[in-house]
Amino acid sequence: MSRLIAVSNRVAAPKAGKSAGGLAVGVLSALHEQGGVWFGWSGRTTESEPGDTKSSRSGDIEFVTIDLNTADFDGYYNGFSNDSLWPLLHFMVGYFTFRRSQYAAYTRVNEFFARRLVDVLQPDDLIWVHDYHLFQLGLSLRQSGIKQPIGFFLHVPFPNFDVLRVLPCYPQILRGLAAYDVVGFQTERDLSSFQDCMVQPEIGGAVHDDGTIEVFGRRFRADVFPIGIDVAECQRVAVENSRHKQVERLTGSLGGRKLIIGVDRLDYSKGLELRFRGFETLLESYPSERGEVVYLQIAPPTRTGVRTYDRIRQGLETAAGNINGRFAEMDWMPIRYLNRGYSRELLMAILREARIGLVTPIRDGMNLVAKEYVASQNPKDPGMPVLSTLCGAAKELKEAVLVNPYDRQGVADGLQQALAMPLNERRARHAAMLSILEKNDIHAWSRRFVEALRSA
Ligand code: ADP
Repeated sequence: MSRLIAVSNRVAAPKAGKSAGGLAVGVLSALHEQGGVWFGWSGRTTESEPGDTKSSRSGDIEFVTIDLNTADFDGYYNGFSNDSLWPLLHFMVGYFTFRRSQYAAYTRVNEFFARRLVDVLQPDDLIWVHDYHLFQLGLSLRQSGIKQPIGFFLHVPFPNFDVLRVLPCYPQILRGLAAYDVVGFQTERDLSSFQDCMVQPEIGGAVHDDGTIEVFGRRFRADVFPIGIDVAECQRVAVENSRHKQVERLTGSLGGRKLIIGVDRLDYSKGLELRFRGFETLLESYPSERGEVVYLQIAPPTRTGVRTYDRIRQGLETAAGNINGRFAEMDWMPIRYLNRGYSRELLMAILREARIGLVTPIRDGMNLVAKEYVASQNPKDPGMPVLSTLCGAAKELKEAVLVNPYDRQGVADGLQQALAMPLNERRARHAAMLSILEKNDIHAWSRRFVEALRSA
């Protein structure tokens, strides 16, 4: 069987006690099925020209990593990927900045990935590239003469044309994507935005009846592949760790109160301050909930040092302080805000204890925490997700309580509805959501994508 070569910005070789994010779990699942190589950045930068690739092996999977030049990395990752692409792809034009020098560094890094990858490739390998850091890798590989199938999966949303064209180099991004054979998105909406961008007069592409897109002298398939989770693993981990000392400390400290949980990276797309305000509105509008609920928000810092992120952290600390100052009693603190990460084992067990999973990003490609929350529940007495309509997961988890994250009163009403929901209704909704998660799990996702790539 041909090897699968997965490529992403970072390679996350599994380490004991370290949790893997959504992308890592997906890539590892695909590689476990058929063996192969995971290729990407090592996490190290060097002032001089980066040296050769380094390789290590774990079972059937080979991890091949490259170092990057320090200045190029800054422009490619902190600059173009995080300050140009990330906000645009999340429809947050107000956070968008653009510098030609950063885009030039992004292009250089994509070309450098291609040069190093070519040395690793064998003629019948299938190549699967992940996420927005590497939009142009496929084109660089084609320019190096690589002919075999190359797929691309976008883990985040794809914006509509009016947002995309804010980016001065948007035609180059679209040209880069057209170099792949299969381009995958999380939802139908992302796909239709992408198709619409390709058929704009200035791009001149066409969408054929079989769903393929013809543009820039190539014809390729674009389709929807909603990413899932490993449902069985999630359930097992949640149950196995339910007697963890920290879980018992948490449940003991609740004194019978209902737990509302949020678990997110500290990122503006997660809508955390609005979420705090939605919870505040619950306490204002439904006084009977005062003293009866505790909202625990876990949000470890990411990309620290970037000023925007420092501002979010300060905003959240202020909001939590205000709300606690306003409503706390001698024996009750409404919000517990923890600015740190926890092990996957502990997180899944804590999700299981929560009566409500509060997942209200203002934009998210999928949101795996929403799925993990549902999977971790006790089916006999499940909690309810209160879920943003603006994340990909809302397309599958239709039985969740759906809210618009910008609407404070709507979030408060949704919380109240979920808190008051009778057991038989929670069970029925949970069973419906769980069956969708099982059908579209992480293994089904990677298998479907690899099959599409194989038949490309
Ligand atoms: P994103 O990819 O934007 O961070 P997702 O919800 O899709 O958002 O995926 C996040 C992944 O990282 C999930 O698998 C989640 O369990 C994990 N995660 C999120 N927050 C934490 C945390 N505080 N500690 C450890 N893992 C976390």
